[in-house]
Amino acid sequence: MPFNTYPFELPPLPYEYDALEPYIDAETMFYHHDKHFAAYINNLNKAIEPYPNLQELTLEQLLTWTRFLPQDTYTKIMQNGGGVYNHNLFFNGLAPYDAHLNAPAQTLLSDIENTFFSLDNFKKVFSEEALRVFGSGWTCLIYTRQGGLKIINLKNQDTSLVLKARPVIIMDVWEHAYYLKYKNARADYIDALWHVIRFP
Ligand code: MN
Repeated sequence: MPFNTYPFELPPLPYEYDALEPYIDAETMFYHHDKHFAAYINNLNKAIEPYPNLQELTLEQLLTWTRFLPQDTYTKIMQNGGGVYNHNLFFNGLAPYDAHLNAPAQTLLSDIENTFFSLDNFKKVFSEEALRVFGSGWTCLIYTRQGGLKIINLKNQDTSLVLKARPVIIMDVWEHAYYLKYKNARADYIDALWHVIRFP
């Protein structure tokens, strides 16, 4: 994570805007990173600015030590901090197509096969879950606290942190992530995204 404490800064995109073409177009990447992600960073900073005690906390602490958050800024911090956390995972979890990066390493592959039968079936089940997100949200493969693999959907900017889970891969299924190129065809966007997902 490039984040330490307030003031949070927009991490640079780890590749060029057009690096994920033709799967994700440069214009979408520009707006998604430089406008949407940047807005979550700016609004998180604004929400924390009046509270010096919160300025000492890391992003993960802000999102999990919720009892420390004053009532009048709680929602702003959870929504914008969640947006920062999720988008950071998302952009770092993509890479220009590369056969090596685009496939899970042996340990993860074994866990996927044990849980979902095969990598292809895992992708099919994950894609179905991503299509099921109603409104705005995310689909995420996590290692649960117990160590098993699980696919979860997150509403709006909820994060997997509340489950004390370790995120493995994440897809942004907010319309802002695909509407410029794919319009309402979320399924086509999800299919395309599989080519640029970077497995850990
Ligand atoms: Mn997004």
